[in-house]
Amino acid sequence: MPSVSSFTKKLVSWYKKNARDLPWRKTKDPYKIWIAEIMLQQTTVAAVIPYYARWIVQFPAVKNVAHAPLQKILKTWQGLGYYSRARNIHRSAQIILSEYRGKIPQDPLLLRKLPGLGPYTVGAVLSIAYDQRQPIVDANVRRVVMRQSAVEGLADTSQDKKILEFLDDVMPAKGNNIFNQALMELGALVCRNREPLCMICPVRQSCKAYAQGLQELIPVPKKRVIKEVNAVVGIIKHQNRYFIQRRPSEGLFADLWEFPGGKIDPGESPEQALRREIHEEVGVAIKSANFLFTVNQFYTQFRANLQVWACETDSPKAISVNDVRKWVSAKDFSKYPMPSGSAKIVDRLLG
Ligand code: SF4
Repeated sequence: MPSVSSFTKKLVSWYKKNARDLPWRKTKDPYKIWIAEIMLQQTTVAAVIPYYARWIVQFPAVKNVAHAPLQKILKTWQGLGYYSRARNIHRSAQIILSEYRGKIPQDPLLLRKLPGLGPYTVGAVLSIAYDQRQPIVDANVRRVVMRQSAVEGLADTSQDKKILEFLDDVMPAKGNNIFNQALMELGALVCRNREPLCMICPVRQSCKAYAQGLQELIPVPKKRVIKEVNAVVGIIKHQNRYFIQRRPSEGLFADLWEFPGGKIDPGESPEQALRREIHEEVGVAIKSANFLFTVNQFYTQFRANLQVWACETDSPKAISVNDVRKWVSAKDFSKYPMPSGSAKIVDRLLG
């Protein structure tokens, strides 16, 4: 096990020279760090940068999030995916405002009670904003520590006991804010998932995987099966307005807006699926349908092939509207948060 003095000093000194200049590293505001850390979960740094900048302008403090309508929160989040993250930020901000007068608690047990704040985010907020001696275990940290200790196996939570023991030995009493970020940065830039750059690694001397030539084999890669989903989407237009509907508040893409449509069942043609879906969801029959284009969208668990059709119906006026079913004009699409596939369809329709 490396000691605080060698491992930590080498890592921190490397970080001070090599850290990327990222917007959330310029602040100690726990609110901004919290937002950045939630955005960075399952999303790349490059993708997060513009979202973070827009978010902070729109919602500069906890109270701005707490007072904003959910639809505005989701619209600002549109395209980042995993929308439950945005919903949890909204709920947590309301709790922080009502129970903690808008101040993010410094007690890990209180923070853990907030929606969407797991051990990782709590560790990140408390260590980076308040310099508490709290560990952070993300995919980068897990990989670096597994390699340092030559722990074989999958990089999953089953390794966390050993990882936390390692971190407890090397976390400094002061300056843990820098140390935690340095460890994550090493995983992102040097101890990369594939082809780690051991020759420029500041902590190579203590690395057991490197010493044994195992760095490419640790951790064992996960096998991911990506499903294909073939679906149809119906564009119903009436008096220059498009029919869209809001998804339920639970499950995939909760509360986001989309055009009607759905999966093509086995044995169905796309047009049959379209007629069935429009009848089930919108409650009208289609008079004619014309194929427009296909949109492909990758999500984490599946790839969606969306066939987009223009639909004509005899009775657009028979389509009922309410809070979750609306006719919207082209310029009003920007008010409705949508999953990325639907947003792409809007771009093609209006492009
Ligand atoms: Fe990772 Fe290589 Fe450094 Fe070990 S020596 S921590 S495998 S980059």
